[in-house]
Amino acid sequence: MKIICIGHNYDNHNREMEHSRPAEPLFFTKPDTAILRNNDPFYIPDFTNECHYEAELVIKINRLVKAIDERFAHRCYSEVAVGIDFTARDIQRRCIEQGAPWEICKAFDKSAPVPNTFIPLEELGGDINNLHFSLDVNGKTVQEGFSGDMIFSPDKIIAHVSKFITLKMGDLIFTGTPVGVGAVKSGDRLKASLEGRLMLDFEVR
Ligand code: MG
Repeated sequence: MKIICIGHNYDNHNREMEHSRPAEPLFFTKPDTAILRNNDPFYIPDFTNECHYEAELVIKINRLVKAIDERFAHRCYSEVAVGIDFTARDIQRRCIEQGAPWEICKAFDKSAPVPNTFIPLEELGGDINNLHFSLDVNGKTVQEGFSGDMIFSPDKIIAHVSKFITLKMGDLIFTGTPVGVGAVKSGDRLKASLEGRLMLDFEVR
Protein backbone atom coordinates (compact mmCIF):
# COMPACT_ATOMS: atom_id res chain seq x y z
CA MET A 1 0.00 0.00 0.00
CA LYS A 2 0.98 3.61 -0.27
CA ILE A 3 0.09 6.85 1.41
CA ILE A 4 -0.87 9.98 -0.50
CA CYS A 5 -0.74 13.21 1.48
CA ILE A 6 -2.25 16.55 0.57
CA GLY A 7 -0.45 19.73 1.59
CA HIS A 8 -1.71 23.29 2.14
CA ASN A 9 -5.38 22.24 2.08
CA TYR A 10 -6.75 24.55 4.79
CA ASP A 11 -6.70 28.34 4.58
CA ASN A 12 -6.16 28.74 8.33
CA HIS A 13 -3.07 26.50 8.21
CA ASN A 14 -1.74 28.26 5.11
CA ARG A 15 -2.00 31.57 6.96
CA GLU A 16 -0.06 30.25 9.97
CA MET A 17 2.66 28.89 7.65
CA GLU A 18 2.55 31.81 5.18
CA HIS A 19 1.83 29.44 2.28
CA SER A 20 -0.09 30.77 -0.70
CA ARG A 21 -3.41 29.13 -1.61
CA PRO A 22 -2.74 26.28 -4.06
CA ALA A 23 -4.52 26.35 -7.44
CA GLU A 24 -4.83 22.57 -7.48
CA PRO A 25 -4.30 19.86 -4.83
CA LEU A 26 -0.66 19.64 -3.79
CA PHE A 27 0.33 16.08 -3.01
CA PHE A 28 3.28 13.95 -2.00
CA THR A 29 3.63 10.33 -0.92
CA LYS A 30 4.87 8.32 2.02
CA PRO A 31 5.89 4.67 1.65
CA ASP A 32 4.28 1.87 3.66
CA THR A 33 7.29 1.96 6.02
CA ALA A 34 5.93 5.30 7.30
CA ILE A 35 2.96 3.60 8.96
CA LEU A 36 2.92 3.47 12.77
CA ARG A 37 0.14 1.35 14.27
CA ASN A 38 -1.06 -0.09 17.60
CA ASN A 39 -0.62 3.29 19.33
CA ASP A 40 3.07 2.45 19.45
CA PRO A 41 5.25 5.31 20.71
CA PHE A 42 6.61 7.75 18.15
CA TYR A 43 10.36 8.25 18.41
CA ILE A 44 11.54 11.69 17.31
CA PRO A 45 14.18 11.07 14.64
CA ASP A 46 17.66 12.34 15.47
CA PHE A 47 17.99 14.19 12.15
CA THR A 48 15.48 16.89 13.08
CA ASN A 49 15.33 19.53 15.81
CA GLU A 50 11.76 20.53 15.01
CA CYS A 51 9.38 17.62 14.45
CA HIS A 52 5.78 18.82 14.06
CA TYR A 53 2.49 16.97 14.47
CA GLU A 54 -0.16 17.48 11.78
CA ALA A 55 -3.52 15.86 12.56
CA GLU A 56 -5.44 14.96 9.40
CA LEU A 57 -8.59 13.21 8.25
CA VAL A 58 -7.49 9.97 6.58
CA ILE A 59 -9.48 8.12 3.93
CA LYS A 60 -9.00 4.44 3.16
CA ILE A 61 -9.38 3.50 -0.51
CA ASN A 62 -11.42 0.34 -1.04
CA ARG A 63 -11.01 -0.40 -4.77
CA LEU A 64 -8.80 0.17 -7.78
CA VAL A 65 -9.15 3.80 -8.90
CA LYS A 66 -7.75 5.24 -12.12
CA ALA A 67 -8.70 8.72 -13.35
CA ILE A 68 -12.07 8.72 -11.61
CA ASP A 69 -14.47 11.62 -12.07
CA GLU A 70 -15.14 13.69 -8.95
CA ARG A 71 -18.84 12.75 -9.13
CA PHE A 72 -18.03 9.06 -8.64
CA ALA A 73 -15.11 9.40 -6.23
CA HIS A 74 -17.34 8.71 -3.20
CA ARG A 75 -17.66 5.12 -4.42
CA CYS A 76 -14.03 4.32 -3.70
CA TYR A 77 -14.02 4.76 0.08
CA SER A 78 -16.22 3.82 2.99
CA GLU A 79 -13.97 4.20 6.04
CA VAL A 80 -12.17 7.13 7.63
CA ALA A 81 -9.86 7.88 10.54
CA VAL A 82 -7.55 10.52 11.91
CA GLY A 83 -3.81 10.13 11.43
CA ILE A 84 -0.73 12.23 12.09
CA ASP A 85 1.52 13.45 9.29
CA PHE A 86 4.73 13.94 11.26
CA THR A 87 6.96 16.47 9.55
CA ALA A 88 10.58 17.47 10.10
CA ARG A 89 9.74 21.16 9.82
CA ASP A 90 13.31 22.42 9.89
CA ILE A 91 14.19 20.17 6.97
CA GLN A 92 10.98 21.02 5.13
CA ARG A 93 11.82 24.73 5.30
CA ARG A 94 15.12 23.97 3.62
CA CYS A 95 13.39 21.82 0.96
CA ILE A 96 10.93 24.61 0.18
CA GLU A 97 13.72 27.19 -0.08
CA GLN A 98 15.66 24.94 -2.42
CA GLY A 99 12.63 23.81 -4.44
CA ALA A 100 13.60 20.26 -3.46
CA PRO A 101 11.26 17.25 -3.01
CA TRP A 102 9.74 16.74 0.45
CA GLU A 103 10.34 13.04 1.05
CA ILE A 104 13.29 13.67 3.36
CA CYS A 105 11.10 15.68 5.77
CA LYS A 106 7.83 13.76 5.35
CA ALA A 107 8.34 10.13 4.30
CA PHE A 108 10.63 8.86 7.04
CA ASP A 109 9.97 5.63 8.97
CA LYS A 110 6.98 5.70 11.35
CA SER A 111 6.02 9.25 10.34
CA ALA A 112 2.36 8.31 9.80
CA PRO A 113 0.55 7.04 12.92
CA VAL A 114 -2.90 5.67 12.05
CA PRO A 115 -5.37 3.66 14.10
CA ASN A 116 -5.69 -0.07 13.53
CA THR A 117 -9.41 0.32 13.00
CA PHE A 118 -11.03 2.88 10.72
CA ILE A 119 -14.65 3.99 11.21
CA PRO A 120 -17.33 3.35 8.58
CA LEU A 121 -18.32 6.75 7.20
CA GLU A 122 -21.98 5.69 7.51
CA GLU A 123 -21.60 5.54 11.30
CA LEU A 124 -20.57 9.19 11.26
CA GLY A 125 -23.52 10.39 9.22
CA GLY A 126 -22.25 9.48 5.77
CA ASP A 127 -21.05 12.93 4.67
CA ILE A 128 -17.30 13.13 4.10
CA ASN A 129 -17.56 16.94 4.02
CA ASN A 130 -19.12 17.14 7.48
CA LEU A 131 -16.59 15.60 9.85
CA HIS A 132 -14.95 17.19 12.88
CA PHE A 133 -11.63 15.99 14.24
CA SER A 134 -9.22 17.17 16.88
CA LEU A 135 -5.82 16.60 18.43
CA ASP A 136 -4.91 16.93 22.09
CA VAL A 137 -1.33 17.19 23.31
CA ASN A 138 -0.91 16.52 27.03
CA GLY A 139 -4.62 17.04 27.60
CA LYS A 140 -4.83 20.38 25.77
CA THR A 141 -6.64 20.65 22.43
CA VAL A 142 -4.20 22.05 19.87
CA GLN A 143 -5.96 21.33 16.57
CA GLU A 144 -9.63 21.28 15.62
CA GLY A 145 -10.44 20.49 12.02
CA PHE A 146 -13.62 20.36 9.96
CA SER A 147 -13.54 18.52 6.64
CA GLY A 148 -15.93 21.08 5.13
CA ASP A 149 -13.15 23.68 5.49
CA MET A 150 -10.80 21.91 3.08
CA ILE A 151 -9.81 23.92 0.02
CA PHE A 152 -10.05 20.70 -2.03
CA SER A 153 -12.69 18.23 -0.87
CA PRO A 154 -11.84 14.54 -0.54
CA ASP A 155 -13.66 13.79 -3.81
CA LYS A 156 -11.74 16.51 -5.65
CA ILE A 157 -8.50 15.17 -4.17
CA ILE A 158 -9.23 11.61 -5.32
CA ALA A 159 -10.19 12.78 -8.82
CA HIS A 160 -7.00 14.80 -9.10
CA VAL A 161 -4.56 12.28 -7.64
CA SER A 162 -6.00 9.35 -9.62
CA LYS A 163 -5.23 11.19 -12.88
CA PHE A 164 -1.56 10.67 -12.11
CA ILE A 165 -1.36 7.68 -9.77
CA THR A 166 -3.58 4.59 -9.68
CA LEU A 167 -5.03 4.13 -6.23
CA LYS A 168 -5.38 0.60 -4.88
CA MET A 169 -7.42 -1.03 -2.18
CA GLY A 170 -5.86 -0.20 1.20
CA ASP A 171 -4.11 2.98 0.09
CA LEU A 172 -4.51 5.88 2.51
CA ILE A 173 -5.13 9.51 1.70
CA PHE A 174 -4.10 12.11 4.28
CA THR A 175 -6.18 15.13 3.42
CA GLY A 176 -4.13 17.96 4.94
CA THR A 177 -3.91 19.62 8.32
CA PRO A 178 -5.76 22.60 9.81
CA VAL A 179 -4.25 25.40 11.88
CA GLY A 180 -2.44 24.62 15.14
CA VAL A 181 0.58 22.54 14.13
CA GLY A 182 3.51 22.47 16.53
CA ALA A 183 6.64 20.68 17.64
CA VAL A 184 6.57 17.54 19.76
CA LYS A 185 8.99 16.75 22.54
CA SER A 186 9.86 13.56 24.35
CA GLY A 187 7.19 12.68 26.92
CA ASP A 188 4.28 14.28 25.05
CA ARG A 189 1.05 12.30 24.87
CA LEU A 190 -1.04 12.73 21.73
CA LYS A 191 -4.73 11.87 21.47
CA ALA A 192 -6.66 12.29 18.22
CA SER A 193 -10.43 12.07 17.87
CA LEU A 194 -12.92 11.94 15.02
CA GLU A 195 -16.48 13.05 15.77
CA GLY A 196 -15.75 12.49 19.45
CA ARG A 197 -14.39 8.96 18.96
CA LEU A 198 -10.84 8.35 20.14
CA MET A 199 -8.69 7.29 17.18
CA LEU A 200 -5.12 7.60 18.44
CA ASP A 201 -3.56 7.70 21.91
CA PHE A 202 0.22 7.39 21.97
CA GLU A 203 3.40 8.78 23.46
CA VAL A 204 6.32 10.64 21.95
CA ARG A 205 9.80 9.52 22.94
MG1 MG B 1 0.23 17.24 6.34
